[in-house]
This record gives sequence, structure tokens and C-alpha cells, in this order.
Amino acid sequence: MNKKMSITTKIMIAMCIGLATGSLINAFAHDISFVQTYLVNGLFHVVGAAFVNSLKMLVVPLVTFSLICGVCGIGDVAVLGRVGIKAFALYILTTAMAITLALIVALFIAPGEGFEQAAGSSDFTPKPAPPLTEVFINIVPSNPVNAFAEGNMLQIIFFVILFAIAMLMTGDIGRQLADTAEKLNEVMMKVVTLVMDFAPIGVFFLMAKTFSLQGIGLILPMIGYFSVVILCLLLHAFGTFSVLLALLAKLNPLVFMQKMRPAHIFAFSTASSNATIPVTLQVVEQRLGVDNSTAAFTVPLGATINMDGTAIMQGVATVFIANVYAIDLGIMDYMTIVGMSILASIGTAGVPGVGLIMLAMVFNQVGLPVEGIGLILGVDRILDMVRTAVNITGDATVTCIVARTENKIDDQIFQDPDAGVITEVELPHKV
Ligand code: ASP
Repeated sequence: MNKKMSITTKIMIAMCIGLATGSLINAFAHDISFVQTYLVNGLFHVVGAAFVNSLKMLVVPLVTFSLICGVCGIGDVAVLGRVGIKAFALYILTTAMAITLALIVALFIAPGEGFEQAAGSSDFTPKPAPPLTEVFINIVPSNPVNAFAEGNMLQIIFFVILFAIAMLMTGDIGRQLADTAEKLNEVMMKVVTLVMDFAPIGVFFLMAKTFSLQGIGLILPMIGYFSVVILCLLLHAFGTFSVLLALLAKLNPLVFMQKMRPAHIFAFSTASSNATIPVTLQVVEQRLGVDNSTAAFTVPLGATINMDGTAIMQGVATVFIANVYAIDLGIMDYMTIVGMSILASIGTAGVPGVGLIMLAMVFNQVGLPVEGIGLILGVDRILDMVRTAVNITGDATVTCIVARTENKIDDQIFQDPDAGVITEVELPHKV
């Protein structure tokens, strides 16, 4: 029994210890200023934030090289268009299923009825949500260098696809560039593995900080709303996705969920689908067996436009706030909520907390008081962590379905429990 513990197991242990440490601090030491200043806002914050930065650092170069390889791997603009349309349609469809499920469950359970409004803080002033027309115009970068510098995912995807198509059209020169991109991609994947070596430490500090600030007590007055969101998230993740995976991708959902674990942990601890892209890509390609030509395209796209978990939170939040303020919503309002949540999901960047800002857009549309968002603010961080894990599960599910229809998934890799297990990197002594 001298099998070395896998990185995933280590990360999971670190996550639990971080959660416990944070909760203990919140319960017993939240008013000790030394602990708050030097530990929670000092050490925990610094190491956790540095770790999230190190993940974000990988996103732009990894997506760029990987996407070039992906487009060149597809090699045909018509096929690329087909993959794009399939992925987009499935992303919209799964989000529509998510929000519908959330509305049905929330209407059935009716959280917020008889809720003491005074219990919550209603001094929320929302940041303005970007107008939807802007979202579409902004897909096209007026300056690609800016897009790369700002890490604007949709703009980067747009430019890189165009660039890679041009590479396909320039024969030999393009092929040479594609070879170089392939080498760079391989090196970038190694950088991901290097960063992952530090993940147990990073995850510990992230969890410790979050739970030092977010006490379990915060959830209690909101337990109705909180539980309905969690219930819908679980139903969607284990119900909808499992059915879709079994029916459309002909894959065993249990194996899928088990192999997704590292990506779940990262999504949960960072609350950012964007920062999780490197891990999702690695898991989808190396553990689930999806070819790079599909995954390189669908994963970053999904992390940017597909937010099933966020749509679920928005659906439940709408019903909750309507109940709290005793506002009756009609069938047309619910239809509007479905449409707006899909659009909000496209417009929501995969970073922490944006789902709540986009909720203002949904509320405005159906005439709910936007300051109602203040009521759910307190529990949003923990929900954000869970819904981000659902968001990236949706990206991986759609990726597998598209890959199956394109014959780009390797069942042997999918079935092999050891395929792509993240191992620690031996650093060379001399370079
Ligand atoms: N944090 C979510 C994500 O990155 C977005 C949100 O719901 O706020 O996927």
C-alpha cells in the first residue's frame, strides 16, 4: 500500500480542512481583530488570491494555443461551423431546461412566502447590467490586443477562430504555425500541471477565507431560498445532465461525474468558470477522452456563455422576491424570465458574483424591485460556488455530446479510471 496519494485526493482533503478551519474561525474568532487582520484578510486572502491569479494567468495563453490547435485539427470551416452551431444550440437548450426546472420547483415550494422582510438588509444598489445590444456588439473586438490584455473571452475566441481559419487557408505557412501552436499548447498544459501542484495549498486558503467570512448562521434566515437553489442545482446536475449524457452522448453519467471531480473542486473554490477553464480542458481531454479539436472550442465558449447554475439561481430568486414582496407574476412574466435568464447567461462573464448583477436585468424586465437583491446577497457567495460547479458541468456535458456526434470521443480513455490522472511534476534539477 505505498500508492502515492493523487493530487485530487490531496486537494479534496485540503478543501475540507479549509472549510472546517474557516467555519471554526467564523464561530469562535470572528471578533478577534488579530485573527481578522493577519489571518483572514492577511495570510488566507493573499495566498488564496495569488492562487486564483495563477489559474487566471493560464487562461488566455492556454485558450489561444489550444483553440488554434482545435480549429486546425478540425481542418474544415464547414465542420467548424457545424460544431459551433451544435454547441451553441445545446448551450441554449440546457440553460432553458435549467431555468424551467428552477421555476417549476420554486413555484411548487414557494420560498419566501411569509418571509420577514425586516430580517434582510435591503440597501442593495445594483451596478447597471450591460445592455444586451452591447453584449452582441462586443463579441467583435475593435482591438484584439486589448481583448487579450483584458482577457475578454468572447472577443478572444472570435479573433483566434478567425486567425486559425486564415491559417488553414494559407497552406504551408499556416501548417508550420500550427505545428508551433501544437508545441506551445503542450508546454502550456505542462504549466497547468505545475500550477496544480500548488492547488492543495491554494484551495485550503481559499476555503478558509470564504468560510471565515461566511458563517453557517448567515444561511439560517435564508434557509428556504438557499435550499431550493441547492435542490434545483442538484436536480439539474444529477438529473438533466445524466439523462442527456446517457441518451445523447451514450456515456455513463456516474463515470463522468467521478472524473469531473478535480474541475468541480476548482469551480467550487474559485467560484469562477473562467479561472477553471484550464482544469476543465484538462479533465475533458485527458480524463473524459474528448479530442482537442472539439474541447478547445466548446469549453472556453461554454465557460463564457453557458451558465445553467446561474440561470437556476435567477429563476429561484425571482420567485422568492416576488413572494417576499407579494407580487403576482403571470405566465407572460415567467416566459420573459426564461428568455431573460438565457440572455443573462450569455452575457454573464464566468467570474464570481456576476450572476447577481445580471439578475438586476431580469428583475427590471418583469418589474420586480431591484433592491430585493439585497435580501439574497448574504448567501450568494456559497451559492455562487455551487452554481459555478454546475456551470462547468454543463460545459463538459455539452462538450461530450458534441464530441459524440462528431465521433471525437475516445471511449477507451473515458472508461479507463487511470486515464489522465493528474500527477505531480518532477522538476528537473538542471535545465
Ligand atoms: N460565478 C459564476 C461562474 O463563474 C457566474 C455567476 O453565477 O456569478 O460561472
